[in-house]
Amino acid sequence: MPTRRSTDTTHGEQLFETALQQFDAAAELIGLSDRTRSILRSPKNEIIVSFPVELDDGELRMFRGYRVQHNDVLGPFKGGLRFSPEVELGEVKALAMWMTWKTSLSGVPFGGAKGGIAFNPREHSQGEIERIVRRFTHALGSNIGPEHDIPAPDVGSNAQAMVWMMDTYLNSASSGGDRQNTRRVVTGKTIETGGSLGRDKATGQGAAFVLAHHFEQINRDLRGTTAAIQGFGNVGEHCARALGRMGVTTTAVADHTGAIMNGHGIDPEALWRHTSEAGGVAGFADADEIDVEDFFASDVDILVPAAIENQITADRAPNVRASVILEGANGPTSNDGEAILIERGVEILPDVLANAGGVIVSYFEWLQNKMSAKWRLNQVDDELRRYLWDAADNIENEKKRLACSRREAAYAVALNRIGTVFDQRGIWP
Ligand code: NAD
Repeated sequence: MPTRRSTDTTHGEQLFETALQQFDAAAELIGLSDRTRSILRSPKNEIIVSFPVELDDGELRMFRGYRVQHNDVLGPFKGGLRFSPEVELGEVKALAMWMTWKTSLSGVPFGGAKGGIAFNPREHSQGEIERIVRRFTHALGSNIGPEHDIPAPDVGSNAQAMVWMMDTYLNSASSGGDRQNTRRVVTGKTIETGGSLGRDKATGQGAAFVLAHHFEQINRDLRGTTAAIQGFGNVGEHCARALGRMGVTTTAVADHTGAIMNGHGIDPEALWRHTSEAGGVAGFADADEIDVEDFFASDVDILVPAAIENQITADRAPNVRASVILEGANGPTSNDGEAILIERGVEILPDVLANAGGVIVSYFEWLQNKMSAKWRLNQVDDELRRYLWDAADNIENEKKRLACSRREAAYAVALNRIGTVFDQRGIWP
């Protein structure tokens, strides 16, 4: 078996390095104080838990879970929970850091966190997944809480997993006496258990709002344009539907099973029915299978990476033909890939803005739970649009003022807000 050399870095460590480089560049740009820089370079808490679960055949297996709480100066830690065999500490640290920037940029009163359990949900029964989620929640104990750290779904997890987390939390001693009022310990729940209307589609819908705002700014008509979408899970599917409602035709889709193309358009509803049964886009009757590299070079106006990180790399960036990248996923563009895209004049709508719809509507869900209120769907959508367009305007102003990239401008807005709060609060004791 090959041994790991000390010079090798894992994909997680590389991702955290990418996150740090982006942070350092933005901190330099806005002259963030050294004090605040050193605080923000390290997550506040890194929690790793190992726990046993009995599988359906009676075998006992150990699982490993992570929760990284990056920063809470603006409010309780907030961030998704990922189920993937690739989950590791470095990856979760990077994703937690990006959450801190995203919540700050979005203007919601939360800090940043992220979590994950290292397993492949596709290889487990619903019963096993339930036991894994419940044991993980139990292992975290009071490390999560409605005013402390509030998980939500991310890659591989879903509303059902959040309901199991909530139920385990409410039934455990750690939730204290105020049990019924603590449903907001997680967001992204089912509607029946306290979820918000519009939360399931929020990230994809939000990405479409961000795109529409960008097209309005550059005086370009969105109707009649085409898109290629990588990932047809929560974000990709809802993004395809929302884009469709705005007159954008999706002509190519890729996921972990392959890539497909139909120049006349792929119907999101028909593709959703197919993926629900087949488990992926491969084999969809109304499109041709294409190579994944051809997918990234699709002749479309908009490329939407909405799957996993590090997809638009220096190898792929020269082949991208889209003029706009809408980052539905977190960290889909590597730093050297981004440099090539910018050089080629490709507009990038960065993840911290483009996929912020999820955490913004999570905030609405948390608020509704706290107030025992129920918002209508159009109220959720209107407020979501307003939050995102405000954030987008702030970024464009900062981009002009600092003559920098859109991602750097987004970080500048986020870091200025955090830096001001640190300056005013100071460090105690
Ligand atoms: P999901 O699990 O619902 O879907 C993930 C999709 O990515 C699936 O279609 C899967 O086939 C595809 N995929 C997985 N591995 C792949 C690979 N190696 N190559 C190509 N495709 C692959 O996850 P999601 O919730 O849609 O999250 C997608 C991205 O959006 C992630 O980066 C996540 O962090 C980010 N995000 C999600 C939310 C949310 O509300 N769900 C919010 C903000 C950001």
